[in-house]
Amino acid sequence: MKREKQLEEKLMKVYCKYGLVHQLEKLQEELRELDEATEQLFTSSYDCLDRFAEEIGDVENVIAQLKNALKLNEAVFESRIAKMDRQLDRIAKGIEK
Ligand SMILES: [Mg+2]
Repeated sequence: MKREKQLEEKLMKVYCKYGLVHQLEKLQEELRELDEATEQLFTSSYDCLDRFAEEIGDVENVIAQLKNALKLNEAVFESRIAKMDRQLDRIAKGIEK
C-alpha cells in the first residue's frame, strides 16, 4: 500500500510538471508504443514480454495521471463494470465479439 501511495505521489508530481495537454500527447505516444509491443508478440512469440510489460506500465502511468487529474476514476470504474457485464451477457447468449 505504501508503494502504491508513493507511486501515486510521483505520478501527480510528473503530471503537475507537464500539464494536461502534454500528458494527453504522452498518452498517444505511449499507446502507439504499446500497440507496437503488442504487434511484436504476434511475430516474435513471447520473447518480447519484457517490452510488453514496460509499455503497459507506461500507459498505466499516464492513464492513472489523467484519471486522477480529470477526476475520472469513478466513471472509468463504472464503465469497466458495465462493459464486462455487457460482454458476459453476449457470451451467455452465444453472441460473438
Ligand atoms: Mg513507452
